[in-house]
Amino acid sequence: MKAPKLFIIIPCYNEQEALPITAKRLKELTDDMAFREIIDPASRIMLVDDGSKDDTWRVIEGLHMSDSRFEGVKLAHNAGHMNALWAGMTLAVDRCDCIISIDADLQDDVNAMYGFLEEYRKGADVVSGVRSSRKKDTWFKRTTAQGFYRLMGRLGVEMVYNHADYRLLSQRALKALLSFGEVNMFLRGMVPMLGFKTAEVYYERGERVAGESKYPLKKMVAFAMEGITSLSNKPIRYVLALGALCALLGLAMAVYVVIAFINHHTVAGWASLMMSVWLLGGLQLMALGLIGEYVGKIYMETKRRPKFILEEHLK
Ligand code: UDP
Ligand code: MG
Repeated sequence: MKAPKLFIIIPCYNEQEALPITAKRLKELTDDMAFREIIDPASRIMLVDDGSKDDTWRVIEGLHMSDSRFEGVKLAHNAGHMNALWAGMTLAVDRCDCIISIDADLQDDVNAMYGFLEEYRKGADVVSGVRSSRKKDTWFKRTTAQGFYRLMGRLGVEMVYNHADYRLLSQRALKALLSFGEVNMFLRGMVPMLGFKTAEVYYERGERVAGESKYPLKKMVAFAMEGITSLSNKPIRYVLALGALCALLGLAMAVYVVIAFINHHTVAGWASLMMSVWLLGGLQLMALGLIGEYVGKIYMETKRRPKFILEEHLK
């Protein structure tokens, strides 16, 4: 098999400190890979500036001038991590055999790429990098992240445990992913929907080489909410279940109220008030949940996801 033309795609938001180090590291890495004929020498490192406010773009321009292997993409505003990745993938898809997406801070071990490409050579279309441990993450980050993966599992979203957005996609898997019509994107939940032959490569997660995390708590919570609501309708179903439970309790309450009323244990007005509070409350929640079901359906429809993804066609 011919060595594949690889595009390494890196979203960068205010990464002026980390980028020079990252670029140097990736240059050495791609040199070595090209030398060993693991990748095509025409492979590229694509740096996507996600509307940074610091000198990130100037750094990228400098890199591009010094070495044509570095490609620069500048987004007009801060579109967010997922959208920056999407932009890079859209611009790369027609010129590559495969892509690898990785963060700009080198927290993910670049040497795992050898493993990725090995799996690709063996026929995998999707290779996910999985953190074998998160010792270097803060306690808070680690616990919240793992809690989130569990929660997503409960909600019926298929995700690779402890895998972030460090992955290889073959051209055809990438094309399939890009055919998803949704605007609210959560890539690590979408990739498993593609199917195709997949593989996992394990590595140790390190610390940021420079600069600070671009995911403050606010963005982390927003990201998690996006993940849940863009992939699962189950929260709506929970409302429906809660409503049904309340309505049932209401019925039991009604029986109790009637008995109390007959036995004259009540003050005037109490019986009717109790009944209406419970029954109406339950019915309202149920109605909301039911409407939610339809809104959820409409929501999924508006995504215009592809109905199938073709893996092979013999003709
Ligand atoms: N990033 C981005 N746009 C944003 C926020 C982050 O492109 O609005 C990039 C950032 O430059 C980095 C990657 O997303 O390459 C992951 O961010 P970070 O390493 O800060 O997240 P953490 O590892 O702390 O979760
Ligand atoms: Mg990071």
